[in-house]
Amino acid sequence: MGILDGKNILVAGVTLDTSIGFAVAKFAQEQGATVLISNFGQALRITRRIAKRLPTLPPVLELDVTDAEHLAALPDAIRAELGEDAVLHGVVHSIAYGNPETLLGGKFLTGPWADVAQAVQVSAYSLKDLAVACRPLMSDGGSVVGLTFDATIAWPVYDWMGVAKAALESTSRYLARDLGPDGIRVNLVSAGPLRTLAAKAIPGFEELESMWSTKAPLGWDNTDQEPTARAVCALLSDLFPATTGEIVHVDGGFHAMGA
Ligand code: NAP
Repeated sequence: MGILDGKNILVAGVTLDTSIGFAVAKFAQEQGATVLISNFGQALRITRRIAKRLPTLPPVLELDVTDAEHLAALPDAIRAELGEDAVLHGVVHSIAYGNPETLLGGKFLTGPWADVAQAVQVSAYSLKDLAVACRPLMSDGGSVVGLTFDATIAWPVYDWMGVAKAALESTSRYLARDLGPDGIRVNLVSAGPLRTLAAKAIPGFEELESMWSTKAPLGWDNTDQEPTARAVCALLSDLFPATTGEIVHVDGGFHAMGA
């Protein structure tokens, strides 16, 4: 028996098998869930190929979270896969983007607003848009889970993505407030640095990674997405029925250490 038996879960933001979303989809399937995954644009082709590496081949949906038409069509796209009476029990937002040329790697004082606006829309505002798009299918309540990188402090090189993550963390609390009456919980997992496509695009990412080797009391494997995926799946399950607006750290304990 798995902790997600009988649950239908959308994981938005899977490109490669290094994607945190891929690890979430895999563990969710292993725990009994029916999973749909999504991505957008040209990478959709890659996602369709990578999906074959999951234990069960999931439907792959096209979803650009900045595209109003995609968002409006999402419930019908899910019904087309799961049936007219489809219910969604969980939604995972595993999505972020900030222009690495202009916003990251020491560009804080020069990052242009248009790029900052894009980063905030894709990485934070879209959590609200995705949850609202899925709400008609979540008539039984459910769980929305997103991924953050601790935005309570300023990091080297993370720059405007740090600001976008602060917006994401705040967005999740307001969503928890507004969707709670529908029985929908909204939580985030704050992961330590993991070698994914998004992370490798951050100029100077190694500087962030290197801090974990000395400071995380449990140690940290930056190539192992599974601990993060397990926490996401725990939050998707019925094991946290009274938890919302929460941020669970999966970072080897790094966040709790002063030095
Ligand atoms: P990833 O594999 O690159 O996943 C990010 C996903 O976001 C990609 O599938 C990307 O698609 C998608 N995306 C970007 N813009 C989108 C849009 N407009 N509409 C729909 N999807 C879009 O990297 P990841 O590290 O697994 O990132 C997943 C989440 O974990 C992100 O929120 C990230 O900030 C967070 N996180 C990562 C780390 C880390 O160290 N890796 C740590 C803490 C939190 P394309 O590939 O097509 O652009």
